[in-house]
Amino acid sequence: MSLAHGPHHLAIPGPSIIPDRVQRAMHRASPNIYEGELVDITKSLIRDLKVIANCHGDVAIYHGNGHAVWEASLCNLFSAGDRILVIDTGRFGEGWAIMAKGLGLDVVSFTVDAGTALNREKLAAVLDDDSAHSIKAVMTVQTDTAVSSTNDIKSIRDIISGADHPALFMVDGIASFGCEPFDMHAWGVDVLLSASQKGLMTPPGIALLFVGERVWGHHESAGLKTPYWDMEPRVRPAMFPDHFCGTPPTHHLYGLREAVDMILEEGIENVWNRHRTLASCVWSAVDAWGSAGELRCRVSSVELRSLAVTSIEIGSGQAMRLRQWSEAEVGVTLGIGLGSRSTEAILDNVFRVGHMGHLNPPTLLGVLACIDAGLKALNIPHGPGALEAAAWKISQSTQTNY
Ligand SMILES: *Cc1c(COP(=O)(O)O)cnc(C)c1O
Repeated sequence: MSLAHGPHHLAIPGPSIIPDRVQRAMHRASPNIYEGELVDITKSLIRDLKVIANCHGDVAIYHGNGHAVWEASLCNLFSAGDRILVIDTGRFGEGWAIMAKGLGLDVVSFTVDAGTALNREKLAAVLDDDSAHSIKAVMTVQTDTAVSSTNDIKSIRDIISGADHPALFMVDGIASFGCEPFDMHAWGVDVLLSASQKGLMTPPGIALLFVGERVWGHHESAGLKTPYWDMEPRVRPAMFPDHFCGTPPTHHLYGLREAVDMILEEGIENVWNRHRTLASCVWSAVDAWGSAGELRCRVSSVELRSLAVTSIEIGSGQAMRLRQWSEAEVGVTLGIGLGSRSTEAILDNVFRVGHMGHLNPPTLLGVLACIDAGLKALNIPHGPGALEAAAWKISQSTQTNY
């Protein structure tokens, strides 16, 4: 008998759960796009998004998904033939690099084995060797959503600065923005990419390009710039519609405004800490399951794990069984295991749990309990105590003066 009744739970790393408040904010008739509330909302969103990113420059808003802002970031700053260095820690860095190659850029891939730490000396040596400064930008993801690893953004900036290299520093924060600590100004990030459907809890459809002061020289000479992707009118509009090169994404703006309100009400530091606690619940459950089975986090080192998503190895062929069972029997959609683009696309021994955005202890513990039930129902070998271990993590993060 299927128990999958009531609200279905989406436990994938984007799109993430849309809060009721965000859904309600979007449920409205088309607004006036010339003056009034929508114009005010756009202004206040730009202000508040910059606060969350600690961006001292500008933010351009696009109708689009993550791939759109990948392209926007490249078209605004480069010309065909320009050399860039992409740190490839998994499928998403790889994807950004493929897009850059498609636009005719000369891509130097700095490959890091999935789930391992970046070799700092090796990266420093590549930049030191580039004495002509032909590398125009160093690009990396913060969270790789497939591997569920995280890159230490500040330490990469330190390597670039240590080599005295003028390359722009560009970070894909699409999976991590609003989940993992980030400080664009203090960390010397020149370009930050994000999108609405992950930590920002809004349907896919808005892409954000945050830029610092140093980008404008590159923008001026960028041969790949096109009228639609050009960020300049979007950040310095002569008229309101210039923000969007046409009709604004009306309902998405209302939704994102509500989501950003929720983040500011909670406090961004609290948002990050909540993500850290909920991530640690998942990791400790996996450790317990793995004590008598094949389950383990794909990223073994805790410091290298994303706070937004966890990729879990479960044993050959078992990921699909568990995902199908949980979808049909308990109403939970788990994320598919993703390999690199150049090798196997879907991994049958890996599934992912998204823990980004609108999530709290009852929802996350519910997901872990459902996975635990699935392991039992399907006779997938696993150790005991996963739910107790997760509950323990919650108890350790709360106040007790009641
Ligand atoms: C989701 C994601 C993307 C791609 O976003 P789409 O909206 O699917 O185009 C890019 N980079 C990272 C790190 C992501 O998590």
